[in-house]
Amino acid sequence: MERARITLRPKEDLRLRAGHPWVYDNEIARVEGQPAPGDEVEIRDARGLPVGVAFFNPSSKIRARIYSREPREADKAFFVEAITRALDYRKRWFDPARQSLRAIYGEADGLPGLIVDSFVGVPDSSPPRETAAATGVAPARAVTPPDIADAGRWLSVQLLSLGMARRKDLIVSALEEVLPAAGIAERSDAPVRGLEGLEPETGVLAGKVPRRILIAENSLSFGVDLLGGQKTGWFLDQRSNRAAAARYAEGRRVLDAFCNAGGFGLACAAAGAESVLAVDSSQEAVAEVSANAARNGLGDCVKAVAANAFDYIRGLERTKERFGLVVLDPPAFAKNRASIEGAHRGYKDLNLRALKLLEKGGILVTCSCSHWFDRERFSSMLEEAAADSGRRLRILEERSQDLDHPIVSGYGESRYLKCVIAEAF
Ligand code: SAH
Repeated sequence: MERARITLRPKEDLRLRAGHPWVYDNEIARVEGQPAPGDEVEIRDARGLPVGVAFFNPSSKIRARIYSREPREADKAFFVEAITRALDYRKRWFDPARQSLRAIYGEADGLPGLIVDSFVGVPDSSPPRETAAATGVAPARAVTPPDIADAGRWLSVQLLSLGMARRKDLIVSALEEVLPAAGIAERSDAPVRGLEGLEPETGVLAGKVPRRILIAENSLSFGVDLLGGQKTGWFLDQRSNRAAAARYAEGRRVLDAFCNAGGFGLACAAAGAESVLAVDSSQEAVAEVSANAARNGLGDCVKAVAANAFDYIRGLERTKERFGLVVLDPPAFAKNRASIEGAHRGYKDLNLRALKLLEKGGILVTCSCSHWFDRERFSSMLEEAAADSGRRLRILEERSQDLDHPIVSGYGESRYLKCVIAEAF
């Protein structure tokens, strides 16, 4: 097959040769042939030497995304190999047959714009959320993860680049071969699709997808709404950070701000927190927290509130509430370079207020999931918040995302999650 060819301007190959997969529109000297949107194109450096093969998108600033360094077709065999490689890496830390994990993390796994989360669990046959929440006060803190012995697997897929969106059928058939599942949900409703000229798409791509399933994480069970939950249904990247935060929780009053379904708060409750107050602006998320607390026998310890966390924290400050551990896990404030300064002010204000809520010796677990707001920024923001609050911080842990969201050299965007655990004194 004759491919169209993109020739780069001088030196624009250097970043690509170090591992970055994106060719921007302003790095291109010329396009030869007439590639259609989503077609495979060859990338050459200014001297004419090959750099790789990529998916072409004339309507995105990211004009081409490299999917292979060797010239090859993006056919089913390609996807089978790439998915197998991604799984082989994860098998060193996870058991994909028994654990929910991110199976494919886009560019970081050499599959630009393809995200696949693999959920292992059981269909949720418990009563509707409202009922579960209302009856959810359980006497004991007995924790029973779902019975994994007869668990099934469901996949939640995001196709976030034109190249991947056009190869949906190939990807589904490769997934069915490498990672067989009872059902595959599509969750291509992330706003970044718009930058690729794509409309949001959601639905069932294969098999059957129950409205909700129960998954196990850190010995707790959580309900996941594959078709209606945020992003792919569950934030897998915080798994190890939730466990880390829980190690400090015993006997403490915990505030879990931006809690979503309560991943952090419930881990803390199970670890012996005195009480957990979980806050999220999403009504659905808050209902999920209560249901999750009830199904883990933690209903007596966890209170979930639907509120704007910024206002709510201000209210707690006014009424002089104090906590022994505060978790901050807000959505990304910095979505691009232009919003970094504004994000800095936002993060600082939030962290400053959280510090004021902490009792002496209290623990702050503070996160940022924006790669634009890098580790240096995050550290200096925290220094400023501490100084302004009149407290000092002892940094206990500087963490990142869990290992199923690999950080790879040459692709700085893969280093996105910061999670600092610090003691305020
Ligand atoms: N901590 C969660 C993930 C948080 S994701 C976990 O461990 O799974 C960010 C959350 O912030 C989302 O659930 C979103 O609904 C919530 N959110 C966004 N803006 C908010 C606001 N102003 N106040 C409270 N919650 C907000």
